[in-house]
Amino acid sequence: MIGRVQGELTRDKTPAERQIAARVGTILVSDMVAPAELAHFGEAGVLGVVTTGGSPLSHSAILARSMRLPMLVGVHDALKEISDDDLILIDTKRGEVIVHPTAQDLAAYRTWQRDLARSADELQRFRGARTATRDDVAIELYANAELPADIAQARALGVSGVGLYRTEFLFLQRRDAPDEEEQFEAYRDLVLGMGGLPVTIRTLDLGADKADNAGIAIADEDNPALGVRGVRLSMRKPALFTTQLRAILRAGHYGPVRILVPMVTASEEQCARELRTEGHEIADHYEFGAMIEVPAAAIALSTLLRHLDFVSIGTNDLTQYTLAADRGNDALGTLHDPLHPAILKLLAHSISTARRAKKPVALCGEMAGDVRYTALLLTLGLTEFSMHPSSLLEVRQEISRHDYATLRAHSLALLRATTRAGIERVLERMRAGTRGIVTA
Ligand code: PEP
Ligand code: MG
Repeated sequence: MIGRVQGELTRDKTPAERQIAARVGTILVSDMVAPAELAHFGEAGVLGVVTTGGSPLSHSAILARSMRLPMLVGVHDALKEISDDDLILIDTKRGEVIVHPTAQDLAAYRTWQRDLARSADELQRFRGARTATRDDVAIELYANAELPADIAQARALGVSGVGLYRTEFLFLQRRDAPDEEEQFEAYRDLVLGMGGLPVTIRTLDLGADKADNAGIAIADEDNPALGVRGVRLSMRKPALFTTQLRAILRAGHYGPVRILVPMVTASEEQCARELRTEGHEIADHYEFGAMIEVPAAAIALSTLLRHLDFVSIGTNDLTQYTLAADRGNDALGTLHDPLHPAILKLLAHSISTARRAKKPVALCGEMAGDVRYTALLLTLGLTEFSMHPSSLLEVRQEISRHDYATLRAHSLALLRATTRAGIERVLERMRAGTRGIVTA
């Protein structure tokens, strides 16, 4: 999302503007905001955030959405163009910052708010509805959750369960790691909140852009995204890992849990199964899965699957690592592109390999909640999507517009396309409802 700043900066504020400013609250403008810092903003009364760097796929942007905190990233000139006490309006849908909005701007903004409310009303008929394609193929929609509000929203909209609970956000707001009891209570409440639906709890994925304040993640690596991140960190801190696994298994006594391990590259990381759980009531049964977010895991999936009950594809990282393009660096522009032929091949391979092995495969990266990619993912054979609840109704509506069988007939053409332009052409034909092989 590229931001735009409009300003008449030399102008003094009118008394009316001053009055509005006193009523509206604070918007923070900064170069970058780390997820750990963001966590405090709600309490501090911050209404919105604008950053000069960053990308919508950064963990800060993902957390801001869960906090219902409007955040605009990549507004390069924001610090230059915006001064303290300026009245600004941020429009996260269009990616705009308006400095000193005029009466006309404010009126346009109110109209836009009304339009948004109207389209949200239209989507309400998909609330609680079964998710299926036009030719009645059932699709499972799961929720990505970080905060309790996400759980309540997911239940209200109707989901098959939680497909991704990012536990690291429990660790970010504090100076010490939560102990077993505290984690157990958080996971138990999550499981109870879902009322018997499966809950996929991902083990700690600290490191890279998710640095904590408790000193768990290693702070001084040269290449943190390629360093001791996710399960690599957990394996180096067995006491911390065991504490978390015990807390998850105890929560599993209250409803079905699935344990999901991030940043898996090799099967020895499955030793997590060997944990001990003496003295507590724990889940009789739990499923054990891995994120497919490193190319090695996707390529060697058939071997990995022997140790796994399910997998979940993390396209945010899979795209970053396959294309060697930092997901948080907006200077790379469109290089972090899920429509790259290599990404589509890895997705198709991962989905078909898991399906052949009769293991459930979901996709929980941001792609799953982006309606621009819904038809594409169905074409590649995906039938389980996990996304933030705010995207759920739109995706459910989009799924209902497509015939699964017709889309699947385009998969070969999609995978044969050798350029992004070729892929776009196949997608265009799919939208037009025509068939045909495109050689690109
Ligand atoms: C992903 O990488 O796609 C993913 C879902 O995990 P995260 O965004 O937390 O890294
Ligand atoms: Mg990831």
